[in-house]
Order: sequence, then structure tokens, then C-alpha cells
Amino acid sequence: MSGMISRLQRHGFQWEDGPLDVLLGRYQNCRAALRWWCNDYKTKNGNPSKFNIDWAPGMKEFMLRNPPKFPVSAACCDRAKKRPSHDFLAAGGFDLNCTGIRKQEGGQRSTTYKSCFDNGHGGIDNYRPLFWWSVQDKELYRKHYGIILSDCYEVWGMKRTGCAGCPMGKGFDEELELAKFFEPKRYRAMLAVFGRSYEYTWRFLEFREKHKIKPKKDEFQFEIWETGDKERISEILA
Ligand code: SF4
Repeated sequence: MSGMISRLQRHGFQWEDGPLDVLLGRYQNCRAALRWWCNDYKTKNGNPSKFNIDWAPGMKEFMLRNPPKFPVSAACCDRAKKRPSHDFLAAGGFDLNCTGIRKQEGGQRSTTYKSCFDNGHGGIDNYRPLFWWSVQDKELYRKHYGIILSDCYEVWGMKRTGCAGCPMGKGFDEELELAKFFEPKRYRAMLAVFGRSYEYTWRFLEFREKHKIKPKKDEFQFEIWETGDKERISEILA
């Protein structure tokens, strides 16, 4: 989502509503983001795609009334995660990339993949050895080998972790509270880096509550779309 907002901002978008063809005439070379804004993406079966703004119910109505007054960017995921891992794989002469995704962990990444293996790009295939591990399997393994988890789980009581304080995550509110208590310096850093994103998201959530708009389950999980992985996006749209 931030990728689409960023593109619209770069094209001087006035956060206006209107038919796609009219907006395409008004804002040149901004087709992908305008299609997102106008809910023009469909799956191959003709159903509305999750890569439309309406996948986050109320977002368009909120943005029309409250255009973002700060620059939005998707560069965080792209430059902190996606590009470094692509560059590393490309430079390393690898033919297999192993990652620890489990289907039961939920979220965009796990629902995107159908099996533990697929043929990757550029001769690097993907293998996910833990893909079929259940929560019970994981727990048995942990107990058998006496593995001590991070304090985030053992002390803070978190169920799932990611980048500290990421404003794209559903649970950032709770994470902020925990960080404030356990790691106040990290808390201040989170506010310094992501403060305006938190504030905008809080206002959006308030708006939605006020208008009794119900959220969708996976509406904030847009990482693949943000980073422009075209092959992966086509698989999802299929
Ligand atoms: S998950 Fe969030 S904090 Fe982590 S790189 Fe992506 S946008 Fe940044």
C-alpha cells in the first residue's frame, strides 16, 4: 500500500475520486497506482483483487478526507530486506535458497506459497524445509533440544515477531506498549522512525471505528506488492 501511495504522491496526485480513464488522462505514467486507487485489479477469475485499495475497507474514504501530508515510501522493505537478499543470492552462485517459512504461521508469505518447493528465478530454486511443520511439531522440537526462545516470546509474551515497531504490522500498538515498558530506548527510536505512520494509522482506525467499517483479515499484509515482485504478484492474481 505504501508503494502505491508513494507513486501517487510522486505524480502530484490531488487525492480525488473519479473514473480511471479520467484520472489516467490527468496523471501520466502512473497507471499501476491509479488502478489500485480505482479498484481496477481483478483476479483471473474476474473477482476483485486484494491489490486494490478497497481491500482495506474505509481507506479510500479516509484518504479522500485526510490526504497524507508527509511523504510515504515503500523503500523500507525494499532496501532493508528485498534488495540485499536478492543481491546476496545473485552474487553467491547458489542454486538453492532455503527459508524458514511455515504454512501455519499465517500471514502473506505463508499463504502465498502452496508447497515447500518451487523453481526460482535465475536458476535459484526455493526450498522451505519447515513448511509443513505444525505448531505442535515446533513445540516438540523446541522441548527436545532445550531451545530457549528470544525474550520477545519468553519474557514479553509476544506470539509473533517481525521488524521492531513496523507500522505495517497489525500488532504495532501492542508492540509499542511492550517496548515502552521493557526497552524505553527502542521505544523512542520506534517513535522517531515511524511516528508519523503510527499517527496516520491511528487516525484511520478511529475513522473506521466511527463509521462502523469492518476490517479484512489480511488487509495490512502487502509486502509482496510493495516490493514489486512481479512473478509472485501474478501467481497471487491467478
Ligand atoms: S517489515 Fe516493516 S520495518 Fe521491516 S523492512 Fe518492511 S516496512 Fe520496514
